[in-house]
Amino acid sequence: MKLLLLFDIDGTLMLSGGAGLRALELAFAEQYDLRGALRGVECDGKTDPAIVREVLGPRGLDTDANIARLLGSYVEHLRATMAAGAASVRALPGVLDCLGYLAARPEASLGLATGNVEPGARLKLDAVGLLGSFAFGGYGSDAEPRADLVRVAMLRGRARERAPAAPAVVLGDTPRDVLAAHAAGALAVGVAAASYPPEALAAAGAELVLPTLERPEAWYPRLCALVAERQALSALGAEGPGPCRPPGSVRPG
Ligand SMILES: [Mg+2]
Repeated sequence: MKLLLLFDIDGTLMLSGGAGLRALELAFAEQYDLRGALRGVECDGKTDPAIVREVLGPRGLDTDANIARLLGSYVEHLRATMAAGAASVRALPGVLDCLGYLAARPEASLGLATGNVEPGARLKLDAVGLLGSFAFGGYGSDAEPRADLVRVAMLRGRARERAPAAPAVVLGDTPRDVLAAHAAGALAVGVAAASYPPEALAAAGAELVLPTLERPEAWYPRLCALVAERQALSALGAEGPGPCRPPGSVRPG
């Protein structure tokens, strides 16, 4: 059996020291002469296009073309803000060891489920040497609703592994990761390494909550047992991951 492990990036794998938010602010300033555009906007766990829409929407500017242009500008600024803030860009504790451990498991297939647009995700992961760890993913550039990009990641992972029924687990640091995982029919691991406490991730319904990704030899077997249990229930028709339908709002690319 193949198992898709879909990682969020910010706050789960790494911290970029606010470089992403600074780049977004610069893009809003450049494109719309908006200063402090993100003031009062809660970004945790939201996709890049959803954050941009939240800013442009009240101003009547949230067309798909405007959002795409803003995000193009964001990626250009991100190169510079990541370089300028390089000292505070880092992988979170245990991430490198965890990915090494999982990569050696024959059943584990490592992918991404991130609200970052794909070029932004690649810039961030490259900065901490993790770009080569993931063979596929779902991104904010695939879908604005987070659950839809999880569905995209599942479709891509299943196609890549030629395993059309492979179960999936999302590993993320916010309640929105947990809710999106469940909406897409995946299990959720809450990683309380950055912004949210374990209680918030448990309250959102995470099947497993970890303080960090450290010591995978302790938690990965438990996760596999949870997946097997869910698969058995699903086979009985009692409960389980729903079918992974192609999302309706996915844009090409
Ligand atoms: Mg996150």
